[in-house]
Amino acid sequence: MEFEPKWIAWEITRRCNLKCVHCRSSSELAIEGHPDFSFDEAKRVIDDIVSYASPVIVLSGGEPLLREDVFDIAKYGESKGLRMCLATNGTLVTDDICKKIVDARIKMVSLSLDGAKAETHDNFRNQEGAFDGTMNAIKLFKEHNIPFLINSSFTIRNRKEIPEIYKLVKGLGATAWYMFMIVPTGRGEDIMEELIPIDLYDEILEWHYEIEKNDDELLTRPTCAPHYYRIVRQKAKEENSSFKRRNLKFSTGGSKGCLAGQLICLIDVDLDVLPCSYFPKSAGNLYKQSFKEVWEDSKLFAEMRDFKGYKDNCGSCEYVNVCGGCRARAYAMTGDYLAQEPFCNYIPRSIREKE
Ligand code: SF4
Ligand code: SF4
Repeated sequence: MEFEPKWIAWEITRRCNLKCVHCRSSSELAIEGHPDFSFDEAKRVIDDIVSYASPVIVLSGGEPLLREDVFDIAKYGESKGLRMCLATNGTLVTDDICKKIVDARIKMVSLSLDGAKAETHDNFRNQEGAFDGTMNAIKLFKEHNIPFLINSSFTIRNRKEIPEIYKLVKGLGATAWYMFMIVPTGRGEDIMEELIPIDLYDEILEWHYEIEKNDDELLTRPTCAPHYYRIVRQKAKEENSSFKRRNLKFSTGGSKGCLAGQLICLIDVDLDVLPCSYFPKSAGNLYKQSFKEVWEDSKLFAEMRDFKGYKDNCGSCEYVNVCGGCRARAYAMTGDYLAQEPFCNYIPRSIREKE
């Protein structure tokens, strides 16, 4: 595997107009100690990245639309040849914002939808009217021909709505639907007891396998459920089928389950480079180092790229090269990011043979 940065999420502000129950950065409207960096700093970071790589950049937050210069940053990145995307909660999207998205040539916008009805989504997002805001954003995106994809986050609180949300998304004209089972970081730590339990995890992923196999319109893939890559292989073998997977657009996934620090990373508002959005450990800082230095020399990234160093079940697993387990979940639940994925119940062949 070549370890080159293909997809970078960039937290351009930590401020947010919502207070979602699972927020990885515990964002709210006023954030102390983590101010937005300046537009000049943003240009410097973009110049630094393009001198080394050509990734997709997703302007994210917090809520990126709270930054007045969000479209200046997007335009600057685009002028340097980067494919710029935007991740928003949708509630601040207006006709005028859509014109600016088009004008800035943003390639894809991602939106969050965590319920098939307002009650569920608003409860998850901690704000009445959030569902209507997302639906309004979708209507406006369609009017302006802006391609969008939908991310849905699940815990046991809303998991019964997974099939309904999938059906709803199919009817909305989205390019892709990515379902995500919460990683307990940031405010997500407070809902530890709500995480999808290990036994149900495989059941949901197997349901998703049927969806992915049979739906040739909507692109679907569970995000950050690395053992889905194991399940796809197991199922395809069981069914003796040559299941052809379609290429994803502007997604973190594709070639392997967990890509943190391998093909993707997050730059946070303090310009710390983290392995991914849910992994609160810095590999280096762009005020002190170049992106290239962090990417190539960080000890943390080197450890994450050395699959032989993974421990316990993941370390012994025949699927480690295609799955790898979620390093952020291992870190959140055990304090050791090389430990086995806490939400996978697979016993690797080498361990079974020894028993
Ligand atoms: S560490 Fe977990 S949350 Fe981060 S990219 Fe890997 S699977 Fe996703
Ligand atoms: S044991 Fe680890 S590497 Fe193997 S399938 Fe489970 S999560 Fe993936």
